[in-house]
Amino acid sequence: MITKETISAKIRKTKQREIILDVLKGTNIHPTADWIYEKVRQKMPNISLGTVYRNLKILRDMGELIEMDCGGAFSRFDANIKPHYHFTCQMCGKIMDIEEPVHHEIEATIARKTGFEITHYCMGFFGKCSNCREAAAAS
Ligand code: ZN
Ligand code: MN
Repeated sequence: MITKETISAKIRKTKQREIILDVLKGTNIHPTADWIYEKVRQKMPNISLGTVYRNLKILRDMGELIEMDCGGAFSRFDANIKPHYHFTCQMCGKIMDIEEPVHHEIEATIARKTGFEITHYCMGFFGKCSNCREAAAAS
């Protein structure tokens, strides 16, 4: 039975997901769930961290965002769902997108050689970003 309560609960859930996705789309820093939570709370003061976590997983399963799970301590999230590589600056910690076609053939090669079923792979680039290089050169 559809009651008034279930409809408003549904609207609330949709609204929560919309705001979470908007926050993520509005940044390119590849934030953690905690960072997203702090921003979402400014618009929805009563939302809990658990709800934000749960919605991030749902949005990931819906294909609306990418959870960057590369074995780090915290997952980071990305609204750019097009496959792409990342560069992490080891000086300032910034994570940036790399405009380079993703090499999908490596997955097929590894799958063929090992017999494993591969869902995704992580390839990250690390070093010093241009800003940090300039700062180091100037000092
Ligand atoms: Zn840097
Ligand atoms: Mn990215």
